[in-house]
Amino acid sequence: MERKEILDHVGVWNNCLQIIKDNISPRSFQTWFEPIMPLKLEDNILTIQVPTHFFYEYIEEHFISLIKKTIRKEIGSKGKLEYSIKMDNNSGVSHNSSIKMPTAYKNAIKNPDVTMPIDINKNKTREIPNPFIIPGLKKINIQSQLIDTLNFDNFVEGDCNRLARSAGYAVAQNPGKTAFNPLFLYSNVGLGKTHLAHAIGVQVKEEHPEKIVLYINSEQFIQQFIDSIKNGNYNDFIHFYQMIDVLIIDDIHFLAGKEKTQDAFFHIFNHLHQKGRQLIITSDKSPVDMVGFEQRLLSRFKWGLAADLQVPDLETRMAILRKRFYNDGIEMPDDVVEYIAYNVSTNVRELYGAITSIMAQASLNKKPITTALAKQMIDKYVKSTTREISIDYIQKIVCDYFGIPVEQIASKTRKREIVQVRQLSMYFAKKMTNHSLATIGHHCGKKDHATVLHACRTINNLIDTDPKFRANVEEIHKKIQI
Ligand code: ADP
Ligand code: MG
Repeated sequence: MERKEILDHVGVWNNCLQIIKDNISPRSFQTWFEPIMPLKLEDNILTIQVPTHFFYEYIEEHFISLIKKTIRKEIGSKGKLEYSIKMDNNSGVSHNSSIKMPTAYKNAIKNPDVTMPIDINKNKTREIPNPFIIPGLKKINIQSQLIDTLNFDNFVEGDCNRLARSAGYAVAQNPGKTAFNPLFLYSNVGLGKTHLAHAIGVQVKEEHPEKIVLYINSEQFIQQFIDSIKNGNYNDFIHFYQMIDVLIIDDIHFLAGKEKTQDAFFHIFNHLHQKGRQLIITSDKSPVDMVGFEQRLLSRFKWGLAADLQVPDLETRMAILRKRFYNDGIEMPDDVVEYIAYNVSTNVRELYGAITSIMAQASLNKKPITTALAKQMIDKYVKSTTREISIDYIQKIVCDYFGIPVEQIASKTRKREIVQVRQLSMYFAKKMTNHSLATIGHHCGKKDHATVLHACRTINNLIDTDPKFRANVEEIHKKIQI
């Protein structure tokens, strides 16, 4: 490879940034890479300055293999990366008192501008190796490609995923021996299919270490199939898959319209199923709704159990957030957890995305994490695309305002103050969400659309005639918007 010795650290880093930019989302790039400053390039070691230890940790965890490749490309195979963590002299843990520091970094923080040498060779396991290894391979050599942290312990259970989770757990206890074969998991994006699929594999490895487990993404599967045709070793490809005891194939919908790959998978499926091996398949749709698939394959998908994962409800979202913060060793004020859970209701990936944006911002500004900061970040990253004020959230604000437990809205009571809280919730839901009258009524004590219309009229009348009431409404309105 041609060495680019003429370039200094700035030039090298700029080249790296060009590559990195093409490989990650604009949002990640802006959040994590724009604040980095290149400091020096000496003896093939590029030193970059990151704003805080949190950046260092995050970058190490999420982008190391990309950075590693980039640095090698730019500096050559001896290229190394070191981080320097920017700290002003009077800063310290206290700036970020709500973030608990992992001990490893505590010492580093005592001194400003600590350099942390990172061996960019150390993270070998993060790269996904191609598991398709040609003949002569010993069973023992098969890399299962499982990610240990995607386990059952870290998978929060809720009504949204109970069936899928418990079927998955049962499968992990007795792979190939339950009625759930294949176990077919489906949902929209970001709701935990990949996580659960890994969790099953990880659990099998723990309980049955002798079993050969393989996790494979459908895109990798397709690529391996194509390569095997090109290289004339299709039989080896099929043979490799026939050795697997627990085959986890993620995002099978990518096989849509790919008849030849489907044929290959069909043969593998039949072989494994006949031998009593376990198949776990994930997809963005249920077998009934999938298009572009051969009928014989779809009918097999229905042989076992098809279980879906749904959007987690508020309580589960809070539990997921708490678990995540706990695992990361972060103390997060309850009101912030609540705020995020209320306002990010699309899927778990968005929930995690919101957390990291908030953490990055808090770390960058060296400010504690507050609801105001959470709001600011959610507005910036989530609201513009997906956030919609929910009826749940409106009810909570209205009830908090009057000091009434939110359950009262769903109750049958006709007490004046409860009726008014219910009406106000309907009024704000009509004004601030796109939900239909029927939906709003259903969420506010199972009322019909006429009741909602009546509520809106009543509230409007009161606003027109009672200045004190009007002031209250304005105040609540502001609270909902925050
Ligand atoms: P999918 O494969 O359905 O698109 P993923 O499994 O990739 O979704 O989940 C997206 C993110 O949300 C992952 O980081 C995953 O760990 C997390 N996640 C999803 N469901 C849960 C859950 N029930 N408990 C904890 N984390 C979850
Ligand atoms: Mg997935």
